[in-house]
Amino acid sequence: MSGAAVLDTAPNATAQGLLGDPELWHCIQCGTCSGICPFGYLMDFPPSKMIAALRSETYQKVMAADTVWMCIACSACTTACPTKIPITVNLMSRTKEELLLEGNIPSELQAALENSQRYGNPMGESPRKRTQWIQETDQVPFMGKDTREADILWFVGDYPSFHTGVQPTARAFARLLNALGVNFAILGNDEQSDGDSQRLAGERGLFEMLAEKNARAFGKYTFNMIVTTDPHAYNAFKNAYPELDIRYPAQHYTQFLAERLEQLKPLLKRELQAKVTYHDPCYLGRVNGVYDEPRALLSAIPGITLVEMVHNRSTSLCCGGGGGGMWMDGFQWEKAGVRLSEWRVREAVRAGADILAVACPYEKPRFEDATKTVKGADKLLVKDLSELLADAME
Ligand code: SF4
Ligand code: SF4
Repeated sequence: MSGAAVLDTAPNATAQGLLGDPELWHCIQCGTCSGICPFGYLMDFPPSKMIAALRSETYQKVMAADTVWMCIACSACTTACPTKIPITVNLMSRTKEELLLEGNIPSELQAALENSQRYGNPMGESPRKRTQWIQETDQVPFMGKDTREADILWFVGDYPSFHTGVQPTARAFARLLNALGVNFAILGNDEQSDGDSQRLAGERGLFEMLAEKNARAFGKYTFNMIVTTDPHAYNAFKNAYPELDIRYPAQHYTQFLAERLEQLKPLLKRELQAKVTYHDPCYLGRVNGVYDEPRALLSAIPGITLVEMVHNRSTSLCCGGGGGGMWMDGFQWEKAGVRLSEWRVREAVRAGADILAVACPYEKPRFEDATKTVKGADKLLVKDLSELLADAME
């Protein structure tokens, strides 16, 4: 991703400092970024206007507005920009960084950032509760307690660990790992938030602190690769931790399972007669180009018919949870009066799906909530891909 390259060279530069960045001067003011942005229509300064303000030296107007916080770092603008300007990680995140310094920040986001600093997770849960998702029947080895060496270090993530609606995703993936005979272990209570959404919400210092804590935990053990439940964690380990010299091979769980599809297929014996549509998570699809693996896994489940929504693959619509959006629902509802998750659920209904399949822990609770408010969505089930695969093994 081109944005990562820019961060490599100037991670702490201010947005105004971007004026010295030749990439911004390549902007042709076509407006594509502002048009494709799901909340561009109600931002005082969508990306193209921000660039215009920078060039015209009226950037103080951008700093006085608060609608930059409607940016959920979905990367749609960056992907569509004809001149390849790294808008999301550069312009938007740096502006948020400056707004944070000035104290211009929605209170919900501030609370999530403080929780991340104090407890190592944005929900403010006790770190001691991080492994409470594991039930007696689950076989989940811990680094330190059970072993110091494993082939795979599974980075479970905040929402699969703490959120009761997402914990079944973690249990399903544990079942899949055991069924495939994978030699794995988790960090347990030593795991900290991966920090990627905090970084994209402008809190780079906090991201660095969390990354360093995770790196210290990684350094205590021997493993060959990290596998994540969460695309944001995958993005962090693949693209952002290396900027801090923390380098480990990493895969999202859909990539890991797709590589073992021939071994997995004979285990998928139970037919799931259903029309399924798949929502490409921004940080798996658009940002990291993983589109085929999740679809290959779904297609391997007997009885499933895969249907596509209008927006799919690189044009996928954000669930609204990225870049701190997960922690700004109240602020965004006040500004927009609509939720992106509802927009997406409406598309799933229009596609005729019985099940909306997801592969990011932010999505399940957001879409499940949306099925309660969108007309005609009351029968739509929201399932993580790992749950669908584990169900098919029964
Ligand atoms: S899409 Fe790219 S070139 Fe077009 S206005 Fe936005 S930043 Fe400028
Ligand atoms: S990253 Fe997404 S939400 Fe943020 S400005 Fe770009 S298109 Fe809009």
